[in-house]
Amino acid sequence: MSKIIWTRTDEAPLLATYSFKPIVEAFASTADIDVETRDISLAARILAQFGHHEDALTELGKLAKTPDANIIKLPNISASVVQLKAAIKELQAAGYDLPEYEDATDKYGVAQGSAVNPVLREGNSDRRAPKAVKNFAKKNPHSMGEWSADSKTDVATMDSGDFRHNEKSVVIPSEDSLSIVLVKSDGSEDALKEGLKVQAGEVIDGTYMSAKALDEFLLEQVKRAKDEGVLFSAHMKATMMKVSDPIIFGHIVRAFFADVYEQYGSELEAAGLNGENGLGAIYEGLKDLPNGDEIKAAFDKAMAEGPALAQVNSHKGITNLHVPSDVIIDASMPAMIRAGGKMWNKDDQTQDTLAVIPDSSYAGVFQATIEDCKANGAFDPTTMGTVPNVGLMAQKAEEYGSHDKTFKIAADGKVEVRNSAGDVLIEHDVEAGDIWRACQTKDAPIQDWVKLAVNRARLSGMKTIFWLDPERGHDANLIELVEKYLKDHDTEGLDLSIMSPVEATKVTVERMRAGEDTISVTGNVLRDYNTDLFPILELGTSAKMLSVVPLMAGGGLFETGAGGSAPKHVQQVEEENHLRWDSLGEFLALAESFRHEANNNGNAKAGVLADALETATEKLLDEGKSPSRKVGEIDNRGSHFFLAAYWAEALAEQTENAELAEAFKSVAADFAENAEEINQALLDVQGSAVDLGGYYYPNDEKTSAAMRPVEKLNELIASIK
Ligand code: NAP
Repeated sequence: MSKIIWTRTDEAPLLATYSFKPIVEAFASTADIDVETRDISLAARILAQFGHHEDALTELGKLAKTPDANIIKLPNISASVVQLKAAIKELQAAGYDLPEYEDATDKYGVAQGSAVNPVLREGNSDRRAPKAVKNFAKKNPHSMGEWSADSKTDVATMDSGDFRHNEKSVVIPSEDSLSIVLVKSDGSEDALKEGLKVQAGEVIDGTYMSAKALDEFLLEQVKRAKDEGVLFSAHMKATMMKVSDPIIFGHIVRAFFADVYEQYGSELEAAGLNGENGLGAIYEGLKDLPNGDEIKAAFDKAMAEGPALAQVNSHKGITNLHVPSDVIIDASMPAMIRAGGKMWNKDDQTQDTLAVIPDSSYAGVFQATIEDCKANGAFDPTTMGTVPNVGLMAQKAEEYGSHDKTFKIAADGKVEVRNSAGDVLIEHDVEAGDIWRACQTKDAPIQDWVKLAVNRARLSGMKTIFWLDPERGHDANLIELVEKYLKDHDTEGLDLSIMSPVEATKVTVERMRAGEDTISVTGNVLRDYNTDLFPILELGTSAKMLSVVPLMAGGGLFETGAGGSAPKHVQQVEEENHLRWDSLGEFLALAESFRHEANNNGNAKAGVLADALETATEKLLDEGKSPSRKVGEIDNRGSHFFLAAYWAEALAEQTENAELAEAFKSVAADFAENAEEINQALLDVQGSAVDLGGYYYPNDEKTSAAMRPVEKLNELIASIK
């Protein structure tokens, strides 16, 4: 019996799993496929660190390196420290013997930030909007905010001293072991990292963000936002880049409240209130300080006198600076662009904003998109072209959240990357407080990425652009490698080019307006950004993307969309028992997973399941059976029911496999006959609060009861054999 691994993760996709997975198991069993669950939720990963749970992530990481892997990966939490602590507290309260976060930061660090995807991604990424989804979006466009030429919205980014401008890059000639050393001004040395294994052909980069340059830049932007009467908003990725971005976030908080830190800085720093955990944590911490009220008043005064802050939740007074993980650049910038360049102010009105993105590596992509909107107005989802992505990410390529190689520099001096012979490969003069980081990209993933780009260009016939910036050290090396490896392929008749991200954005966006499609072939960070930016503009959300990772060893990893785990959706379930999570990403991934099983193991029935599932998904979209955001209307559970009904119907009607057609005839009839009653019953359960028995580790029985509330439907699913 073959098997598909279904990952149990967190928040909304976990709740959806309780409803959908029994359906998946039942349908898969008809093609002799076992659907096994592996728990890689934040809670399970924390418990695994202390022997209270199996270490499923390590197991799956090994599986991903074999041809047998067929893994469906749902979005999971990339935990900030705030989330980690909350999860630990919940697990302790549930009776697990766990140390406090502060007493075991190393072990907890394993579960922090982007801890899952880099382990599983043993291949590069192929993300696109399936035709049915794109066509549906064209027929049923999401709303777009107006853009006007006099919008004051702008992106502010650094023009020197940041990661982009300081980057140096080398290609390693032969297998080696590197060290990263801080040589202090007095000549003494601190080893930052030793024994960093590298292979021949590997690209190694080093760069740093100057703390001084950052502070100067930030003070200017606070002043600029005030002068121009626009909102101040900061956009970064404090979850995934768990070392660098919280530090930068701290600088932003301190710059915004510069006067307060001028006066009370030493007390605040001594109490650990340096802003890296956000304004919310500062307000909490002030309660424990003897003159906390006085300092709070200073914060309030600064808030009243400074530029208006963009809000995350204006009703609750949660600002852009409250929680470092609340505003995540890859989703926040496109959402702002979709909304006509506006964010929310404290009076619950939308307003133009100064989007502060300190590092300039990719800020220009958003800036170019914004400039285009100012010149040409909002995009039109009914006519715009599509922008699929081929992303370099295998074997932690360019893993910019590579936390084990990011350091806050303790003293003035220089950072050297040395090879085992002692030669200095990369060198930077640094000052205390600077953020220095390295990243690695192995050769085999680069070759595989170029191959995948050529394949996608060939299969789609689309213009294909490699987004690489000749002015950056790393990208300059990659341009040479791309040019070299393209020669390994037949590129006759393909439209392939290499452009800087800003140029590529301009060309792509212009084509998109003209209804033309363009593949963006990017490194890891832009993979993340572009697979939110373009889908959010084209489809309204990135959750509707097909996201395939053809694993280099021959297996398949099928990610369910490009979105995250939608924490807000869980709150809504808890308050009114309505789950607005759309499982379209799961449907798309599942069809690809069955197809992979059909191709790799010659399982013809799996291919029939895949085709029928795609037919059902298209019908689901056309019939408007996707979840609504409003209580009392169809939700995630209702959409799963209709998907199952349409899937059974498509299987009963297909002529490719008589056995499956026969098996599903009565199932399809039963679903159709009971449709009205089941649909109504699923609506009737909504409206009141529901207790899931936990947030990070919900109670199995309670959650299952909540997500599978209709006995008749459960019986129908159980009858599928
Ligand atoms: P998010 O979970 O994508 O949520 C942002 C909003 O996108 C949601 O509130 C929701 O909008 C919409 N959305 C996303 N997926 C949806 C779906 N399937 N159906 C309906 N709406 C959907 O982004 P986030 O708040 O930035 O991140 C939350 C967590 O997910 C973080 O811990 C983050 O690290 C993690 N994350 C994981 C992955 C991954 O594992 N691949 C990727 C990205 C983020 P409405 O509120 O309008 O309904």
